[in-house]
Amino acid sequence: MSQDRPAGVPDDAGPDDEFEAPVRGSAEELLDAGAHSDLDAMRHSAAHVMAEAVLDLFPGARLGIGPAIQDGFYYDFELPRPVTPDDLAAIETRMGASVAADHPFIRRELPPAEGRSFFVERRQPYKVEILDDLAAKSKAAGEPTPVTSTYQHGDFIDLCKGPHVASTGRIGPFKLLSVAGAYWRGDEHRPMLQRIYGTVWGSQADLDQYLWRRAEAKKRDHRRLGVQLDLFSFHDVSPGSAFWHPRGQMIWRTLEGSMRELQLRRGYQEISTPILVNEKLWLQSGHLPLYADNMFLLQVEGQTFGLKPMNCPESTFIYRSRLRSYRDLPLRYNEYGRLHRNERSGTLSGLTRVRQFIQDDAHIYVRPDQLADEIEALLGEVREAYSWVGLTPRFAFATKPDKALGDPMLWEKAEGLIKEALDRSGSQYVVKPKDGTFYAPKIDIYIDDALGREWQMATIQADLTMLPEQFDLTYIDEHGQPQRPIAIHRAIYGSLERFIGILVEHFAGAFPLWLAPVQAAIIPIADRHLPPAEELAGVLRGRGLRVEVDASDNRMQNKIRLAQEQKIPYMLVLGDREVEGRTAAPRTRAGEQQPAEDWTALADRLAAESAARGL
Ligand SMILES: [Zn+2]
Ligand SMILES: [Zn+2]
Repeated sequence: MSQDRPAGVPDDAGPDDEFEAPVRGSAEELLDAGAHSDLDAMRHSAAHVMAEAVLDLFPGARLGIGPAIQDGFYYDFELPRPVTPDDLAAIETRMGASVAADHPFIRRELPPAEGRSFFVERRQPYKVEILDDLAAKSKAAGEPTPVTSTYQHGDFIDLCKGPHVASTGRIGPFKLLSVAGAYWRGDEHRPMLQRIYGTVWGSQADLDQYLWRRAEAKKRDHRRLGVQLDLFSFHDVSPGSAFWHPRGQMIWRTLEGSMRELQLRRGYQEISTPILVNEKLWLQSGHLPLYADNMFLLQVEGQTFGLKPMNCPESTFIYRSRLRSYRDLPLRYNEYGRLHRNERSGTLSGLTRVRQFIQDDAHIYVRPDQLADEIEALLGEVREAYSWVGLTPRFAFATKPDKALGDPMLWEKAEGLIKEALDRSGSQYVVKPKDGTFYAPKIDIYIDDALGREWQMATIQADLTMLPEQFDLTYIDEHGQPQRPIAIHRAIYGSLERFIGILVEHFAGAFPLWLAPVQAAIIPIADRHLPPAEELAGVLRGRGLRVEVDASDNRMQNKIRLAQEQKIPYMLVLGDREVEGRTAAPRTRAGEQQPAEDWTALADRLAAESAARGL
């Protein structure tokens, strides 16, 4: 799935919500029960039981498919009317009866013709369509049509390859969650079916925990919190491109500032390259044939230009602007380039699926003998940056796919060096065999957020051919001979837009002090306390702190409530006593009342806390 993605194009960065199931188009995909573990097998089995219940309640219902997915299962149905919440409750009750009856799942193989007529007689055209597709495919390949594999529990028989649990009694505590429209085979020209989602777990405690997580995720939805906290908005005049409000932009700049500080410390040099580029560049890099549909292309003086969807090829112009010696490497070019990708408007979603975004991107040119050290250092950079927000990255090492460009010896060597770096770094990682891109072995970065949801973040790719070969990059080695460098593509946050969306949900909007757009709210009790409040603000701002004075005529309790709703880390209430002693007693957003401190000491303490990027 990732193998045809050009350089700098991350894999689909993970589903936006628990239910974004992959589209299943081919007959094989439609028959895949999605059961890769015992838990998945139970989830898929629950889908059978749900289909049985739906057929009971809606005789004549036509069945689509019912695979296990992350955290649950679904089944697609063609029904005479929309499913209501009352229907879901009734379906659940029927399902409970089937589980209580503990029907065994029994597999039966039918000869192809018999299998087909079975589903024709039961008026299940979608099942017949899958069988016909399989038969056509076998015929084209000169192979016999496979037998029809069915599973029965109770009176219900489904077209299925399994696996399942032994009997319906093995299905744990479950709940039906929602209904959504889903085109048959993901094709908008085919009928829209009703997809019923459910979840099932091994124990009641696991189910309760999941339902809590789901409710919490809804409350934390960054699209909702983004409005409440005045961070960003979206408007029809530019779909999929955020309008950053001052507070959102401050989070943006603070994250960027931390990364710039790390990059300077690590010897990066920042570059900036054009957004509007002639298509010739994308032809040379090999992006255009694969990626033209996702690019915004426009005509300028009879030639086709595109808005850059990734930064990669442009850094090679800076590399080639001078003759490079082995002594010049590594060359670390970082760039915060504004990127555009033409995602379909129907798929856009908050900050996690956008048309315009900026990555904390870098292209690092190394000699092959420097690869392991550089990768090890990069893994350290990733761990450091994620520690600022209290997250521990996990890594997946994706190796050479079957179809790969470049010298197999070089691949083998590069993979060995990356593995060495991963082992030396002490990082936790898994190997994903053959999951690299066709030009690069890569390391994918994952995190689990506060709700235990997994997110795929950015990647580190060791590009052996795409930039070095297509753009004929060389350096002169110690013997005066030209050699090819390796180009490492790497981002740490990835898209800043998406990263902020994830952080908003991870922190439920309550950003740590160092990242909070407003770090302290100063709350004068009466109008006469307003001038000293401005004076205190000056003291705090003098130490680089971000503060706001609430000069409204709201009552004090209202001002405190508003600051709490805005999740501002500290509130500083000023009355006669505080003004007279030039002190302030901070109150945290969690409601903790701290002892009074004088203004200078308070400014020093908060500035130190912020600089330490504590959580
Ligand atoms: Zn099945
Ligand atoms: Zn790149």
